[in-house]
Amino acid sequence: MIKVTVWNEFYHERTEENIKAVYPDGIHAAIAGFLGKNDDIVCRTATLEDPECGLTQDVIDDTDVLIWWGHMRHGEVPDSVVERVKTAVHAGMGLIVLHSGHHSKIFRALMGTPCNLSWRENGDMERVWTVDPSHPIAQGIGRYFELEHEEVYAEPFSIPNPDELVFAGWYEGGELFRSGCCYKRGYGHIFYFQPGHESYPTFYNENVQRIITNAVRWAKPDFRKVIDCPNVSKIETKA
Ligand code: ZN
Repeated sequence: MIKVTVWNEFYHERTEENIKAVYPDGIHAAIAGFLGKNDDIVCRTATLEDPECGLTQDVIDDTDVLIWWGHMRHGEVPDSVVERVKTAVHAGMGLIVLHSGHHSKIFRALMGTPCNLSWRENGDMERVWTVDPSHPIAQGIGRYFELEHEEVYAEPFSIPNPDELVFAGWYEGGELFRSGCCYKRGYGHIFYFQPGHESYPTFYNENVQRIITNAVRWAKPDFRKVIDCPNVSKIETKA
């Protein structure tokens, strides 16, 4: 079984009625709901206001893939929790960062760049293009699919060049964005996926659900190992 922890800031859904109407139990519950239907995936959830953000060392040690959604309160995630997650990713834990998680402390720490972008929220349609149909995360996805409404995230997106670019988004306002980006940091696999604005039902879209499910299987570690720094003896010796 792949052990997934879905982390959500869980703020908009409690404070804004129109967002509560879309995700009454929170974005984390919606994501855990569709992932949990798979026989090979077991989910738990964690939120900002849980003790230690719900990401204690025991939880992290028992997590194969961590999914991250945050927006307004990135700064309230303690640096000690960010460091714990970063260490786990380096040792092999998978990380899937969704939408406005582009500005989370953990994503910025792992990318090493500002991760800034241009944005606009006016209900544009997004057409998500499959750039790399051979990629495991793209399996079951067509040439493209459309989201009736999404927040516009536009280039330039100040990330390191992705190791693999799987999806690109086009918006009816004319913008373009690298919307599905893969990285490896240490032994850990990271996938950034742009759709998922809180006021739209994006996480109920079957293509989005397929992509996140594929990403969980792709990011699952084959092993966990702390990257150490040993002093070693030479291998070749003269007779
Ligand atoms: Zn948004």
